[in-house]
Amino acid sequence: MPASPATDRQTAEFPFRIGFDEACAIVDAVAAERRLAAIPLSLSRAHGHVQARDVVAGLPQPPFDNSAMDGFALRHADLAADGPTRLQLVGDQFAGLTGDFRLEPGQCLRITTGAQMPEGADTVVMKENTRIEASRIEATRIDGSRADGDWVEVLVAPRPGQHVRRAGEDSRVGDLLLRAGDVLTPSRIALAASQGIAQLDVARRPTVAVFATGDELVEPGMPLRPGQIYNSNREQLMGLLRAEGLEPVAFPTLPDDPAQITSALRHAGEAFDLVLTCGGVSAGEKDHLPALLQARGRVRFWKVRMKPGMPLLLAEGGTLGPALFLCLPGNPVSVLATWLAIGRRLVDGLQGRAPRPLRRARLTDAWHKRHERLEFLRGRWQIDAAGVSQVTPNPADGSHRMHAAADSDALIVLGEGACDYDAGAVVELLPY
Ligand code: AMP
Ligand code: MG
Repeated sequence: MPASPATDRQTAEFPFRIGFDEACAIVDAVAAERRLAAIPLSLSRAHGHVQARDVVAGLPQPPFDNSAMDGFALRHADLAADGPTRLQLVGDQFAGLTGDFRLEPGQCLRITTGAQMPEGADTVVMKENTRIEASRIEATRIDGSRADGDWVEVLVAPRPGQHVRRAGEDSRVGDLLLRAGDVLTPSRIALAASQGIAQLDVARRPTVAVFATGDELVEPGMPLRPGQIYNSNREQLMGLLRAEGLEPVAFPTLPDDPAQITSALRHAGEAFDLVLTCGGVSAGEKDHLPALLQARGRVRFWKVRMKPGMPLLLAEGGTLGPALFLCLPGNPVSVLATWLAIGRRLVDGLQGRAPRPLRRARLTDAWHKRHERLEFLRGRWQIDAAGVSQVTPNPADGSHRMHAAADSDALIVLGEGACDYDAGAVVELLPY
């Protein structure tokens, strides 16, 4: 284990001042150790949750050959090679009703979209390509009984098999429809519904407690005294968490007092899966969280070589309770970056969520990176008219520069090591 410098007031017995990739590996391992159980949810409640198990098709989809159009089901062999064809209309085949017709040569059936193809028919002509002559004729039902009908003139001949949706062409019995780790989008929920599935096993979402810390913090709406600032992190964190479908609980702001912090964290540590704090985790005189978690919990890492967000700390609760504690730095832009890069990864891992797709863009402007640490710059992302993904870095790169973060919509990931980036260089993005 690397020894911490004396200035950090700690004798580190845990990974300290680690690289971003190492932090990710620890987060993944901790999440895997603490994977949340699967719970059954009705489809109406499962939206946005992470699917816990693979789902295979138990039914073919479509379940039977059916019409893709409103029109007439016919035998393609009856159609004239050139010019219109007259067919006897011998009945109706509507969606939801099983037909009792068998088409004989020269006959057709009125059919609606989704109705089962009648026996003997192999093609559908759309209504718009026909003309109906209302002269009554007689026809034979499948059971031998007689039915009345009209004449249909097919003006534009369909191709053989046209407008017929084949049983099983979308999915066959045994096809893998949903994978464990998939997020349940409306399309995936609809797919499950089409199989007659009424509930899905999804990963339970972690319960999350949110704490801001700092003697200087005042809630918006209250008067501000000299030296105080408004608490902006709480709402930022609540919004970021809710965007993931979580239902975080915000607690009153904690003063920089170890006894009060301990007591609040113990309560939350017993009741929640994850306790998120912000502020008080660096090396200042009023930063009590590292010593507190080192004494009472099990620190999994402290300090990650990233900018912003270096002081980040992950711990298991120990005597504070079974919760995981993720302590984010206090600066608002650090909260944004550490949540998107690490916190969200932890929450994803706890639910077994599949990795998120990487986004990439070309820098519109050159950038000189001054620090060795991995850097998350703020920038504006757009896809230009030629389809090129581009991002414009915001030069206001301080971790307190909330205005720049609010004017941006993506974090630009610049890898470890100082580097000059030319305009046009391809970078990874974390959109927000
Ligand atoms: P700390 O890590 O506690 O020293 O905080 C770092 C910086 O972030 C300081 O300038 C704090 O005033 C600021 N800060 C801490 N918590 C918040 C918060 N909840 N809202 C806005 N700024 C904060
Ligand atoms: Mg503080």
